[in-house]
Amino acid sequence: MNIHEYQAKALLKTYGVPISKGVPIMRPEDAEAAANELGGPVWVVKSQIHAGGRGKGKFKEADAGEQGGVRLARSVDEVKTFASQMLGKTLVTKQTGPAGKQVNRLYIEEGSAIDKEFYLSALVDRETGHVAFVVSTEGGMDIEEVAHSTPEKIVTLTVDPVTGVMPHHGRSVAKALKLTGDLAKQAASLVDQLYAAFVGMDMSMLEINPLIVTKDGNLRVLDAKVSFDSNALYRHPDLADLRDLTEEDEKEIEASKYDLAYIALDGTIGCMVNGAGLAMATLDIIKLYGEEPANFLDVGGGASEEKVTAAFKIITADPQVKGILVNIFGGIMKCDVIANGVIAAVKAVGLSVPLVVRLEGTNVEEGKKIIAESGLNVLPADDLDDAAQKIVAAVKGN
Ligand code: GDP
Ligand code: MN
Repeated sequence: MNIHEYQAKALLKTYGVPISKGVPIMRPEDAEAAANELGGPVWVVKSQIHAGGRGKGKFKEADAGEQGGVRLARSVDEVKTFASQMLGKTLVTKQTGPAGKQVNRLYIEEGSAIDKEFYLSALVDRETGHVAFVVSTEGGMDIEEVAHSTPEKIVTLTVDPVTGVMPHHGRSVAKALKLTGDLAKQAASLVDQLYAAFVGMDMSMLEINPLIVTKDGNLRVLDAKVSFDSNALYRHPDLADLRDLTEEDEKEIEASKYDLAYIALDGTIGCMVNGAGLAMATLDIIKLYGEEPANFLDVGGGASEEKVTAAFKIITADPQVKGILVNIFGGIMKCDVIANGVIAAVKAVGLSVPLVVRLEGTNVEEGKKIIAESGLNVLPADDLDDAAQKIVAAVKGN
């Protein structure tokens, strides 16, 4: 689960992390009060969307002004102008894709005088199973670009969960950022605070770009991007309230209600599969035969007829879907349950695209019989290869 920058900063503040004062707003008429509360003389008006690269982004609408999604304002009037220009408009950044994202919230922040910009992130290193910190002097830039062209400027260190953060971690970070004296001490306590926040809230990623040294010699977190491990969210009911559904794919929200694993993709073939491994294999074979999957939908091990129906409805509601492949290996999941679910869904929502069904495993004969006797226009398939070729041919023929 992702959250907005202003929410991430508020959480980090409770761990003592140095951040600027700021006020989130959702209506342009609240900009003046927010600006007055902060006092100025410089403010930053920041678009809140679940995507980075906002500063260099561009708005689609001409009346949103020339500048990007992060703007420096030098008067209350300017804060007001920017707020009314940006709210409700669509911001396109390197990370949003060409469709962009609508800006529904702004964060008005006290402006900082920047001396230096650094990069600092924390994530779970899958190889060691430890939390890793990634630091670089090249802040405010695209870190993938830095990793590509000057990898020696990126320093990674991991924290053993048994000992937690040790003094040497702080020293390593300070050294990597070429900080000495009081700033080195600040870096060490920042690493402590960020590690506590990361572990305490079960984050999967924390990215600060930039971390700055202010002109008056202090470290400050100027931007913060946080993702939480969804599997651990049950331990943090308060964090669930931070979810912004307007930032998420509608079909993914609907799927999560039924506990279905659904990921929207860019292609044309909707896939209903059980088990992540089979889902991966299905996506691969569709690509092998020259088409692209429209989604990844895993109904899981023991899905009920109701769940299968919900899954099928989500797939058919997507106008991108030009054909559907149901690929089930019945183990705990029974093929007759899948067949009944598919038929119930087709009866409820209709079927305007070709449908290929491949069933194998428990109760496969009953399942095939139910489909054959349903009178629906379903193309049966014998194995995965056959199924993939049939659905690709059907989609291409359209
Ligand atoms: P992003 O573009 O989505 O990564 O948004 P950021 O929050 O990182 O802001 C983009 C850039 O705006 C930063 O890299 C800074 O250079 C600049 N910026 C953000 N806040 C301030 C501020 O308080 N003062 C100054 N001078 N620049 C800022
Ligand atoms: Mn940034």
